[in-house]
Amino acid sequence: MKYYVLFGPPGAGKGTQAGAMAERFHLCHISTGELLRSEIAAGTPLGMEAKALIDAGNLVPDEVVEGMIEAKFDSVKGVDGFLLDGFPRTVAQADALKDMVARRGESVTACVSLMIPDALVHERIAHRAQLEGRADDARDEVVSNRIQNYHSKTEPLIAYYKAAGLYCEIDGVGTIDEVRERIFKVMA
Ligand code: ATP
Ligand code: MG
Repeated sequence: MKYYVLFGPPGAGKGTQAGAMAERFHLCHISTGELLRSEIAAGTPLGMEAKALIDAGNLVPDEVVEGMIEAKFDSVKGVDGFLLDGFPRTVAQADALKDMVARRGESVTACVSLMIPDALVHERIAHRAQLEGRADDARDEVVSNRIQNYHSKTEPLIAYYKAAGLYCEIDGVGTIDEVRERIFKVMA
């Protein structure tokens, strides 16, 4: 089984590229952001707890997302692997992932990192706010907090996966098709 981590700042295009990647390589796409948004939409206790954090641009607790990921690993069958979009977002989550995968006798295949500059993060999220109406995209201070959390909590994963020899960086600036071709080239 393949275990790909799809990494990048908010608005880097992870969700946009993940569908094509999953289809091409027969992977189950798991987006922690989407899983959390469906918990919120369903009004579950987990969703209610997550909503306040997400709407403020903060991360939800590590144990919450780790549990969602493990449940998917346990339940999804008939794929060649998993594409993790938005997970891990902290070093603790990366360690938890390593353990979960090791318990299955496997290891993380690669960290595919979509890189765009901060200025473009703001621009893309402002654009998406118009299209998708996500509460956490609408307010500048929330977007800034997400970017700050990215730099302080998530960016250390670049060094983490570099040290593990798994880090694969892709220029995320360009058209959707251009970026997809760059990704396919490194995954092939
Ligand atoms: P992208 O635009 O690249 O898809 P994003 O940062 O805009 O990424 P999501 O990945 O959809 O958005 O995540 C939305 C929110 O859900 C995050 O801001 C965070 O509050 C919460 N979240 C998602 N994944 C995690 C995680 N692994 N750990 C903690 N919180 C998470
Ligand atoms: Mg997303």
